[in-house]
Amino acid sequence: MSNFNIEDFPHRRLNPLTGDWILVSPHRAKRPWQGQVEKAVSEDRPKYDPGCYLCAGNERAGGKFNPDYKGTFVFTNDFSALLTDTPEGKIDEGSLFQAKSESGICKVICFSDNHSITIPEMELEDIRKVVDVWCQEFEELSSNPMINYVQIFENKGAIMGCSNPHPHGQIWSSSSVPTELMKETKTQKEYFEKHGTTLLGDYLKAELDKKERLLVENEHFVALVPYWAVWPFETMIISKRPVQNISLLTDAERTSLADIYQKLTIKYDNLFEVSFAYSSGLHQASTDGNDYPEWHFHMHFYPPLLRSASVKKFMVGYEMLASPQRDITAEQAARRLRELSGVHYKHQTNK
Ligand SMILES: [Zn+2]
Ligand SMILES: [Zn+2]
Repeated sequence: MSNFNIEDFPHRRLNPLTGDWILVSPHRAKRPWQGQVEKAVSEDRPKYDPGCYLCAGNERAGGKFNPDYKGTFVFTNDFSALLTDTPEGKIDEGSLFQAKSESGICKVICFSDNHSITIPEMELEDIRKVVDVWCQEFEELSSNPMINYVQIFENKGAIMGCSNPHPHGQIWSSSSVPTELMKETKTQKEYFEKHGTTLLGDYLKAELDKKERLLVENEHFVALVPYWAVWPFETMIISKRPVQNISLLTDAERTSLADIYQKLTIKYDNLFEVSFAYSSGLHQASTDGNDYPEWHFHMHFYPPLLRSASVKKFMVGYEMLASPQRDITAEQAARRLRELSGVHYKHQTNK
């Protein structure tokens, strides 16, 4: 008889969205931790920083000035990775030397005129305005015949390479469908053709049943640690109703998305009592004009912090050369996040 169980023994888990396998080593999470656990120095920022190129009224690169905006503000990235006027063409020198031209539009979204806060510290109605801007931008960009995919994302924190603490995200929209989305389209399509239901719809049903990895639930969305999480505290927000993209969310669903986005990120900040760094983003169907009934709208959160405000997980060595690997299990991470307060640590009165 096998004594195998995933709480005690090394194992691999399948990510059904990408087809990738990840290595989990739960026995290693039991070894004593020698490193120091330090508290973050809380950095109090002003609501307006005259040196910030995202604050209202300030000068950006190339001599452009931001308007005196309130709330959200969107502009085309002054250093766009993609350009609208790339000549079409390709290099095809046999199977070993392939290249294709790529066009697109890159934008920056300021989430707030307030330089000093981030999403978990924003009011629900102001986060709802961010969701509305995502919808507007998605609709506008997806109606552009040049654009076939709209990637909305945020890099938060210096540890994620974000050079400016002003609350902001980005949209890179492109003529091609990027690699991760190609993988997720393939797996979701295969699942939908076989079962007649969406992969994430069925996954969500099973998770709501098991309750092991759930973090927050509201009327229209669930936040959870996916079974196949790679980053220590990786999470997803999944819509209860299968929709192909954000523009199909109802008014009530948009408010629910803002609500769960706020609640999840408050838990993140409370974990190490620090403004929690992550890369997050929306995943949705291609905007090439075809119908993608298999596509199920969701958000990914990939945070690097492992044990404290300064101890991060590195994806090195084995991860670069062989496969992603983690020590604490998805279930342990979910338990830690679940038990955290829903009130932001800066607002907790008993401190
Ligand atoms: Zn600013
Ligand atoms: Zn995805």
